Amino acid sequence: MKLEGGCYCGAVRYEAEGEPMMKAQCHCRECQYITGGSPNVFVLMPVGGFKYTKGTPKQFTRSDLERAVTREFCAECGTHVVTRPVGLPAVVLKVGTLDDPGLFGSPQMAIYTIDQQAFHHIPEGMPSFERLPKR
Ligand SMILES: [Zn+2]
Ligand SMILES: [Zn+2]
Repeated sequence: MKLEGGCYCGAVRYEAEGEPMMKAQCHCRECQYITGGSPNVFVLMPVGGFKYTKGTPKQFTRSDLERAVTREFCAECGTHVVTRPVGLPAVVLKVGTLDDPGLFGSPQMAIYTIDQQAFHHIPEGMPSFERLPKR
């Protein structure tokens, strides 16, 4: 499938082509900063099919964590668009930045529930993992 999207102000635009590798909601503390407090709903897309078609995002990587992810966001409006994990040829695409978030369908699992807040909702029967599912 081909997904298109961008930031809130339109300065940064992207295309992501390929088969989604994972569709999930992440409850980690870091994601809470980026979403407003809710789990972060994302689709993992192959890095080979991902490219920016407009603008260049600013990058941020924490220096105090081992294997810290790199987060990319619009320097104009501040919208966080994707995260690049370490050692995985994929981008973590924020569903809220898709032109049509409805294309996403729904998350298949909840991850990093170790940081779950009381007000976070996990649908009945959805597989959930304290950190990541075993590979
Ligand atoms: Zn922007
Ligand atoms: Zn997270």
